[in-house]
Order: sequence, then structure tokens, then C-alpha cells
Amino acid sequence: MSKKPRNTTQRDKDRARIAKNKPNCGICGEPIDYTLKWPDPRCFVVDHIKPLHLGGADTIGNKQAAHNIPCNSKKRAREYAPIVRRSGALK
Ligand SMILES: [Zn+2]
Repeated sequence: MSKKPRNTTQRDKDRARIAKNKPNCGICGEPIDYTLKWPDPRCFVVDHIKPLHLGGADTIGNKQAAHNIPCNSKKRAREYAPIVRRSGALK
């Protein structure tokens, strides 16, 4: 029985490599508290500089540190933002 390495292995390595130097958020530029754990809104997440659905690569060169919310989530949800704004959920 052979087990292929899971796709997430490289992601975990990249994540650890990015977190190692504890960089500031690549989106808002503010420090990230690396002791916070998911799903804390201000926890560290890996952001794809060019989103995967826009053809961005899933490689270390296209990754940066970001806050979970609002930075990364806001970026991901940008295409839906006008709808959310109209509904009054955002101020
Ligand atoms: Zn941020």
C-alpha cells in the first residue's frame, strides 16, 4: 500500500517558512500576532498575492502573510463587496 504525500504538505512547509520571520501583514502592513490561532479574526493566514482563481501560482513566490479578517477575507470577498454594501452589512 503506497500513500502519496498529500497536497497540503508543501502548503504547510510554505506556511511555516512565511511565519518563521513573522512578517507584517502584506495587505494592511500592520504586525501580526503569531500566537493567535485560527479562527481568531486577527490570526496569521497565508494570502495568495495573485489569487488562484485569477491564475496565480500556488508557490512560495506568490504567498505572503496576512491577517485572517479583515485583510484576507476582505480581499477574497472583494467581488461580492458591492452586494454586501448595498445590503447594509458593511459600514
Ligand atoms: Zn492586515
